[in-house]
Amino acid sequence: MSLTLPLEERRPRRPAQPLLDVRRIYAEPAALELPRGQQVLQRWPGAEITEVASHWQIPELHGDEANVARWVRIKTEALVLGVKKSLAARPNGRSSDFIAPSTANGCAMACAYCYVPRRKGYSNPITTFANIEQITRYLDRHITRQGTKTTPNQCDPTAWLYDIGENSDCAVDATISDNVADLVALFRRRPTAKASFATKYVNRDLLELDPQGRTRVRFSLMPATMAKLVDVRTTPVAERIAAVDDFVAAGYEVHLNFSPVIVADGWLEQWTELFAQIRDGVGPTARRQLAAEIIFLTHNEQLHEVNLGWHPRAEEVLWRPELQETKRSENGAVNVRYRSGAKRGYLDQLQEALARTLPACTVRYAF
Ligand code: SF4
Repeated sequence: MSLTLPLEERRPRRPAQPLLDVRRIYAEPAALELPRGQQVLQRWPGAEITEVASHWQIPELHGDEANVARWVRIKTEALVLGVKKSLAARPNGRSSDFIAPSTANGCAMACAYCYVPRRKGYSNPITTFANIEQITRYLDRHITRQGTKTTPNQCDPTAWLYDIGENSDCAVDATISDNVADLVALFRRRPTAKASFATKYVNRDLLELDPQGRTRVRFSLMPATMAKLVDVRTTPVAERIAAVDDFVAAGYEVHLNFSPVIVADGWLEQWTELFAQIRDGVGPTARRQLAAEIIFLTHNEQLHEVNLGWHPRAEEVLWRPELQETKRSENGAVNVRYRSGAKRGYLDQLQEALARTLPACTVRYAF
């Protein structure tokens, strides 16, 4: 009998590539003058520095199709240093009351469905904003202006929630500079507000930051088989679940972000299995404070076209015109999502499975 190994097992294993190995830093001159800019340079003393007029326009990084072949390499080796110009906390109302001004955008991970690169271009590596003092001063004043939260809502019963990671993954950003540490420190001394960010990366250095309950980490989870296909470069799902208790013990509030829910063969069984893994993998203290948000996949035609160039297998599950409807956004982009009637049915099934398997976990919102 001849035994033929699957192709992946016949290939020699290559060592895992580090998430970041910064060789080139593109920097706005104003960012280089700030202490936070200097801190980032010291973190990678061997990196070549290129001055740029604006972090928004670096064609060799952000140009899309031409960069598909060296997509992950750019994310690993390039970093941008900029200054965040417009400071505003935008009202949100879904997972947070406000979206805080970003202290970074872009990501070193490469989830196939990620919307983060859409604004700058598709190989969008991390841009770190060096004017952190200005950003934290702005946030401090904004929190003061809100006063006490008197009406509980889905974000939080008593605290004003600020999402500090809309355009990046804060757990990875924290490996680059102290921006996230500074935000955690700011919220630690503000009893009326909390910071919040979703993450797919377990950074255990965050356990040292002493958040005293004023930062909510939302670990993003999906069934491991699907994550292996679409969550490129992220921490394995089992490790994310295993980190929950440690983050709670370190003083974080830990919620779960079930997202994106992707409808494919066996999806409901796989999610039920995931809920059971969480039930068995999370201790009573974490379970008592657990809550989740559920977000079904939305995708985008332009991203679909680009992904076909580097990860066509992911598109087999993400791009399902027979299940999806299109919606043209204000900027003309064609977005797709599951047809609304069917989506209601999927959501009911998923929530029923969650209530049955992991009843301790309430749902803050589903969308
Ligand atoms: S971890 Fe988040 S920000 Fe990073 S690529 Fe994945 S979805 Fe995008």
